[in-house]
Amino acid sequence: MSIQLPTVPDATGHYGPFGGMFVPETLMTPLQDLAVAYEAARQDPRFQAELDDLLHNYVGRPTPLYFADRWTERLGGVKIYLKREDLLHTGAHKINNALGQILLAKRIGKTRIIAETGAGQHGVATATVCARFGMECVVYMGAVDMERQALNVARMRLMGAKVVPVTGGQATLKEAVNEAMRDWVASVDDTHYILGSALGSHPFPMMVRDFHRVIGVEARQQILEKEGRLPDLLVACVGGGSNAIGLFHPFLNDVNVRMVGVEAGGEGIVPERHAARFQGGKLGVLQGTKTWLLANDDGQIELTHSVSAGLDYAAVGPEHAYLQSIGRVEYTYATDDEALAAFKSLATTEGILPALESAHAMAYVEKIAPTLPKNAILIANLSGRGDKDVEQASKYLL
Ligand SMILES: *Cc1c(COP(=O)(O)O)cnc(C)c1O
Repeated sequence: MSIQLPTVPDATGHYGPFGGMFVPETLMTPLQDLAVAYEAARQDPRFQAELDDLLHNYVGRPTPLYFADRWTERLGGVKIYLKREDLLHTGAHKINNALGQILLAKRIGKTRIIAETGAGQHGVATATVCARFGMECVVYMGAVDMERQALNVARMRLMGAKVVPVTGGQATLKEAVNEAMRDWVASVDDTHYILGSALGSHPFPMMVRDFHRVIGVEARQQILEKEGRLPDLLVACVGGGSNAIGLFHPFLNDVNVRMVGVEAGGEGIVPERHAARFQGGKLGVLQGTKTWLLANDDGQIELTHSVSAGLDYAAVGPEHAYLQSIGRVEYTYATDDEALAAFKSLATTEGILPALESAHAMAYVEKIAPTLPKNAILIANLSGRGDKDVEQASKYLL
């Protein structure tokens, strides 16, 4: 059965009451110009053809939809499929968006790229496409994150990117975004900001979603080929929300496909010990967009915590806030311990080390699968590989 949900965002970048453009005056016109340029690119068959060619030959699409045989058996027989974004070049879904945005930057004549990164995965994806297109690349990264993710810092530098440490505040992702925004206000004439998730001011949440829709478009076609019908349940982890919206979006009008987004529950839903914005969060504005976020009663952004740096951010993408408000997608959370347990399950049952971010989605699969009818079909997004998390996982699991 299918329905027709309203098309979002509207012309002003709103998803119902969420989203919008909360940026300094100097960025207003450049962002509006970017939205217009993106719309033209989207409708240009040559742009799509170049993107498709690189997604195939450089990035490694389509990714397999893998039937997790042994995990299925262990969890009671519900058919579990994994969308293998972990097999992409650079090891996670983030390259889909970085590639789309650099093609757009090239099209509008920009010569310099800036980005922010938390765990370093988006920084690596951005440094990669900058090397591929010969563009100058500056990545802002919290000084604390640089220490925690030294391997990714080295990867970026080896590809010619300049990694700038950011020391203010918690010295993590939020501060890195502030610094990238500051750079962009001064450099927007020749610089494009490749934002790393379905977050920030319009048109970023929409563009980032569109560049990741390929995940869901492929999964839909693959499950129809393998099973002859649509899945009953889609599961994905939600940091800013880009891998989740990429998988969910092509299925939104299929009412019988249930969708669950999994946030980082950290050490439990206690202020400053988690990053689950739909649990104990509130409506507010952060870094360009109106959405659910974690703040105290004075409106100060709260500290967040997660074992996975990629989910450790105080705000969720505005389209997820909208989908939650209309009841189309459900949101839950997995704790650090549950994610680590799922990491171990997948490693020992399927021979796959998931990223700790993805392990949050896998933790929900472990919880829900035994409760579903035997003939149910489930697709979980394996958003990235766990190589970057080996040290941390070893500390807890070995
Ligand atoms: C960055 C990252 C995430 C979280 O970002 P989203 O925008 O919510 O997808 C999830 N998984 C992996 C592997 C990541 O690198």
